[in-house]
Amino acid sequence: MARPDFQTLPGTRDLLEPDSGRVRRLVDVFAEEADLAGFGQIVPPLFEDVGVFVRLGEASDIVAKELYAFTDKGGRDIALRPEFTASVCRSFVEKRPLTPWKTWYAGPNFRYDKPQRGRYRQFDQVGVEVIGTHDPEVDVELIALAWRFYQRLGLTDLTLLVNTLGDFAERPVYLDALRGYLEANTADLSEQARTTMAVNPLRVLDTKRPGDAEVAAGAPLLVDFLSDGAVDAWMQVQLGLDALEVPYEIAPRLVRGLDYYTRTTFEIISPGLDAAQNAVGGGGRYDGLVAALGGPPEPGVGFALGVDRTLLACDAAGAFPPTDRPVDVWVVATTAGTEALELVEELRRGGLRADRSYDRRSMKAQMKGADRSGAVVALIVGEDEAAAGTVSVRTLRGEGRQAPVERSRVVEHVSELVRSLES
Ligand code: AMP
Repeated sequence: MARPDFQTLPGTRDLLEPDSGRVRRLVDVFAEEADLAGFGQIVPPLFEDVGVFVRLGEASDIVAKELYAFTDKGGRDIALRPEFTASVCRSFVEKRPLTPWKTWYAGPNFRYDKPQRGRYRQFDQVGVEVIGTHDPEVDVELIALAWRFYQRLGLTDLTLLVNTLGDFAERPVYLDALRGYLEANTADLSEQARTTMAVNPLRVLDTKRPGDAEVAAGAPLLVDFLSDGAVDAWMQVQLGLDALEVPYEIAPRLVRGLDYYTRTTFEIISPGLDAAQNAVGGGGRYDGLVAALGGPPEPGVGFALGVDRTLLACDAAGAFPPTDRPVDVWVVATTAGTEALELVEELRRGGLRADRSYDRRSMKAQMKGADRSGAVVALIVGEDEAAAGTVSVRTLRGEGRQAPVERSRVVEHVSELVRSLES
């Protein structure tokens, strides 16, 4: 086949059935869980004033390197959404809904990232945010929601990592200690870690490079610097997870890329993914973001799960398989009239998934189409049937029986037949 003039851009893909249907089902499962927990859906715009995302922190990779930002025809500096949290907080500040405000979302994000397996430039997330409460029990409920969702997908081999990042009050003291330690050990750090250290020393802690990891392993831990309030909240989170029987591992070096994270932070990793991007999802508290966007000092907590990576993890675990949804009925009509048109319309109105051949093909070609479609029943209308006011009903599974049915009874008859053949 000749190379087409256009192909999808790097890091983007067409999702076709059955993969597209699988994403839809995944979002349905997530929506059900979020709905059970009292969340309402938010559908924010795909692009916003670039400032909404820049407030996430100019040192973060998302803002510094990965933003799809441009100036529109009206001279506005805008960016495609790289994540939902900032948009949710912007919406909160703009609309001021009653707190605690609980909202869930699903949809694509855009990051100019290096494309590879599990890392795309357009990728889907599902997630939730709660704005307006410090209660650590919310953190627990959210983690449990993510965990139950994965269990419903059949992903039982995941690991939940939790940590606390403390409050803003203790962070400068801790960062000083961390910087002091890293500076004393710069000789053993890679060039990249040294650069990271200068902009965001916390990030050196979750490095994946073996040499840097060795240095990180000896670094002072934030947990030793926590204020009484932060210690209390951290204990409540652990007690809550124990009470709900959500298994977790404490990961004292787990940090997140953005500056606005505080207290609880967590990540869910899958053994089925490459180590460099084995997180299927993560989240935590961000008690400074709403204020950073010009709002009141309301705390927030949430998580985002990567849909694409979750499905890769499902593939590796043989969970939540894609399902073909063939039509129920295939209409084969060889008459010159509008019999096929009317019949498929009636079947569809009757709740049956019906399809047909086009271009007035031969009976043989149409029957081939019926077989290929995966339909359980073919309805045949030739000149004889049309004259007699009947339709020949042929089962396409098992022995393949064929019998005439009165035209006026066909939808009812086929509905029963499909039900009995599928059960
Ligand atoms: P983040 O918003 O960076 O905390 O990401 C949350 C989740 O979204 C990650 O755990 C991944 O599963 C997913 N994710 C983030 N970036 C990408 C990407 N470029 N491609 C695919 N999935 C991603």
